[in-house]
Amino acid sequence: MDINSFMEEIDQLIPGHNGMGYFSDHLRAIVKIADEKARSGMRNIFIGDLKVYRELMSRVNSPVQRGNIFQGLMRARISFDIKKTPFPITCQPGCMDCCGLNVAINSDEREMIRKYVKDHQIKIDRSALCVFLDGNNLCQIYSVRPASCSKYFSTDDPAKCSTKDGTKIIRKFVPILAEILWSAVANLLVMETVKDIEWEK
Ligand code: SF4
Repeated sequence: MDINSFMEEIDQLIPGHNGMGYFSDHLRAIVKIADEKARSGMRNIFIGDLKVYRELMSRVNSPVQRGNIFQGLMRARISFDIKKTPFPITCQPGCMDCCGLNVAINSDEREMIRKYVKDHQIKIDRSALCVFLDGNNLCQIYSVRPASCSKYFSTDDPAKCSTKDGTKIIRKFVPILAEILWSAVANLLVMETVKDIEWEK
């Protein structure tokens, strides 16, 4: 099965969805290089995750609560995945190079983070690399940061991360089970980017 057939097959599992499903770039890349057996395993996990989150949506009405549950599930997946990397994670506080990426976020996380922003009176800085970075390049919402941020790791020399010209290749660790869960849920909810959301509302 080639990558397009794989994606199309999964796409058909999402009623009302037209065209290709919403998959993280990392998941697409992994599916592309995986062998038939691995693809089949990923497909089954993806289908299971779709079912679980659909069930959650039918039982839990509050997006804030669901956002909390989603992030808890993601954390569990990430810590499971992370045990499999032979390389140490080199990300450090104050390094915000990845924060300049376009951070995708689902609508349940958005509502959960919106509540956190309100409750903690977080100051939004539209001129910063990410609206949630403070003056010390620290994430003001770190404990509830989007799963897109928490599933993104470098296992390389941190000095390489500050390269802005894109000439150096940074070795990344991709938590595959977390990518699958993230992608499955992305197909069930509205997706936006952190920078485009009006957090002050
Ligand atoms: S939410 Fe936090 S971790 Fe994510 S990009 Fe913004 S500042 Fe960085």
